[in-house]
Amino acid sequence: MTILENVPLAPLTTLKVGGPARYFAEAKSAAEVSEAADFARSRNLPLFALGGGSNLVVADEGWPGLVLKLAILGIEERTSSDSGKTLFEVGAGEEWDRFVARAVARNCAGVECLSGIPGSVGGTPVQNVGAYGQEVSETIASVLVFDLKDGQVRELCGEACGFEYRTSIFNSSERDHFIVLRVTYSLTQGGKPRIEYADLKKHFAGFQQTPSLTSTREAVRRIRAAKAMLITPGDEDCRSAGSFFKNPVLAPDQYENLTRRAAAKGLQIPSYPALDALKKVSAAWLVEHSGFSKGYKSGQVGISRKHALAIVNRGEATASDILGLKDHIQQRVEELWGIQLLPEPVFVGF
Ligand SMILES: Cc1cc2nc3c(=O)[nH]c(=O)nc-3n(C[C@H](O)[C@H](O)[C@H](O)COP(=O)(O)OP(=O)(O)OC[C@H]3O[C@@H](n4cnc5c(N)ncnc54)[C@H](O)[C@@H]3O)c2cc1C
Repeated sequence: MTILENVPLAPLTTLKVGGPARYFAEAKSAAEVSEAADFARSRNLPLFALGGGSNLVVADEGWPGLVLKLAILGIEERTSSDSGKTLFEVGAGEEWDRFVARAVARNCAGVECLSGIPGSVGGTPVQNVGAYGQEVSETIASVLVFDLKDGQVRELCGEACGFEYRTSIFNSSERDHFIVLRVTYSLTQGGKPRIEYADLKKHFAGFQQTPSLTSTREAVRRIRAAKAMLITPGDEDCRSAGSFFKNPVLAPDQYENLTRRAAAKGLQIPSYPALDALKKVSAAWLVEHSGFSKGYKSGQVGISRKHALAIVNRGEATASDILGLKDHIQQRVEELWGIQLLPEPVFVGF
């Protein structure tokens, strides 16, 4: 395994900001992950696991230790003799959407609504990626990990991953403890697509038959492209980390307070079945109603013209520009609505 020095990280992220990694390596196997972990431990360096860089804000100073890019490939398919489900064992370094395309082509349901999410397979359990009515927690059977504390490789069942909304043990209680090597997804051969989200229902309104997995995948990708939530070459609004804030989950008194503040301005909090079920409110609505509408621009940063939740790098932004806008938005939302917005991306090197 080659260890490089002072490798720029910005080009390896979708937001395109941030400084270099002091050391950088690519791991194509568990053995190489182990080698990299030894390298970092023997030099007392912090190790950062990099996937597709689609959920990151890297500091302008970069990362002082080793960045390990996961490049473990492979998609293996088999049928479970217990459940009859189709199991896909996928290397952490595989591109997520390549795997979704494969699953859909094999007529296996369970991840079709997650089409077009950028990044790697290894990144998906970390924040329990979700979109259009599905989350990976529903289909992850197990995750093979390298334990950075004792150098062992072990298999965690889905339950052990502690999945919740945009959360797992990997980004909370056990952060920096495990490197994901492989993920096993349990899908339903011949299953129907999940058409529950408003945008998808609207897309298929008037269809006489249940759409196929393939047409669901195409619809999701089309809807995402219209919101710059699909990485499309030449679309400047894609220079983002996706949604920058999580939808806040409110306690009843907070929700009442928010409704009162909205009513005082003659506004109504929008209601979406998918959010209401989890007592969440739309972060996009809060951002837009705090003076940051789609297309907002301040120097080199702004809000996507197609999605109010995406902070975009307009070309030459630095990480501190991004953080400046993030802080500004959080401050205004708190002042106007009494709600603290929590960022979704991972901050690296701050
Ligand atoms: C345009 C756009 C649209 C998006 N849409 C969505 C969406 O609809 N839903 C959604 O949930 N997310 C979305 N995202 C966010 C992002 O794509 C996902 O979170 C994705 O799963 C991140 O994977 P990654 O490989 O890029 O991880 P990275 O950004 O490289 O890393 C993110 C975190 O995961 C960790 N990590 C990555 N790989 C591993 C590994 N193998 N082992 C251990 N830790 C690892 C990193 O250390 C870091 O903490 C979007 C992003 C963009 C840019």
